[in-house]
Amino acid sequence: MRLPQGGGCQCGAIRYEITGPPTVVYACHCTECQRQSGAAFAMAAVIPQAHFRITTGEPKMFARQTSPTKTMECWFCPDCGTRLYHVPGGAAYPNRNIKPGTLDDTSWLVPTIHFWTRSAQTWVHIPESAARYETQPETLGWTAPGSR
Ligand SMILES: [Zn+2]
Ligand SMILES: [Zn+2]
Repeated sequence: MRLPQGGGCQCGAIRYEITGPPTVVYACHCTECQRQSGAAFAMAAVIPQAHFRITTGEPKMFARQTSPTKTMECWFCPDCGTRLYHVPGGAAYPNRNIKPGTLDDTSWLVPTIHFWTRSAQTWVHIPESAARYETQPETLGWTAPGSR
């Protein structure tokens, strides 16, 4: 993993930088992540807020209701629509859950936790070495991303 490292959207209007390693890299197989990514699952790298900054452009935010009392901020490029990061629970959340496929170097990304395996596509094989959860536990060392 190279640090600091840049990342950005497909059109280049938004660029960001991470200056520290993720707390965790996870894969989520929930149906919302499948819809959002248009793929079988989504990945996230949980980066402490102090180690993340936007260096070019201004992303736009869509607030998704994840429960009657919670929303998740979904930040994306207003020009090309690339989803860049999520902030579950809003301003109080101390991390940025970045979409790690938007980093300039994705070669080091290995998810160690898989969430919502009960809705995983049948052809997806999860490595034995990874932790797996049928759904998503609330109590982890970092704040759960709060998706469905
Ligand atoms: Zn863009
Ligand atoms: Zn999900």
